[in-house]
Amino acid sequence: ETAQAAEKTYTIGTDVTFPPFEFANDQNEYVGIDMDLIRAIAKDQGFKVQIKPLGFNAAVQALDSGQIDGVIAGMSITDERKAKFDFSKSYFQSGVVMAVAQNSKITKLSQLKGQRVAVKTGTAGADYANSIKAKYGFKVVTFDDSNNMYQDVTTGNSVACFEDSPVMQYGIKQGTKLKIVTEPAEKGDYGFAVKKGQNKELLAAFNTGLTNLRANGQYKKITEKYLGATN
Ligand code: GLN
Repeated sequence: ETAQAAEKTYTIGTDVTFPPFEFANDQNEYVGIDMDLIRAIAKDQGFKVQIKPLGFNAAVQALDSGQIDGVIAGMSITDERKAKFDFSKSYFQSGVVMAVAQNSKITKLSQLKGQRVAVKTGTAGADYANSIKAKYGFKVVTFDDSNNMYQDVTTGNSVACFEDSPVMQYGIKQGTKLKIVTEPAEKGDYGFAVKKGQNKELLAAFNTGLTNLRANGQYKKITEKYLGATN
């Protein structure tokens, strides 16, 4: 032990699979924009992280019940969530798109009447679908992770799903057999979250680290690694 104080370790919850933000690589390590960002910020600010890929809804609940210190999971900053959580500054912009099977004729919400639509539990996409289902007359079925949601559409059980636009775009590029048919709705920002009023130092360190990473080019490097130089 050196004279330097031991670095604090924070447990950070994330989604099981939400590429390009978090996913397991061939070595079964969690990588992606969120994973690289939180590790780079931890290094910059002198703390350690233990990543827990719990699934999106489970991670948010674990944070709410104080079992983990923070969540980074492509989590949208919403007014409803601000009642329970404190968010960092925005680190990415997103929106919700509708995706359908590649051979589908569906291009708009009005064609969902009487149909089944897949969403992921506890997400902004699920909230959006639930807010418009009565108007458009469709039924919502929920899944705990994005892959199972996509599968329900590719197998034809559901006619569409609602997913975050950067995630759906990336997935389709990587071979998910779906196509995006709407412009992004419910546009908003991703933020790192802590339980309201808790872990103030962690939140402050995240914000300072993010500012540093934007200034020194590391933020750009991380996003370009997963999205390419055009983004
Ligand atoms: N951005 C969406 C939300 O916050 C989805 C996040 C996710 O599925 N990991 O609800």
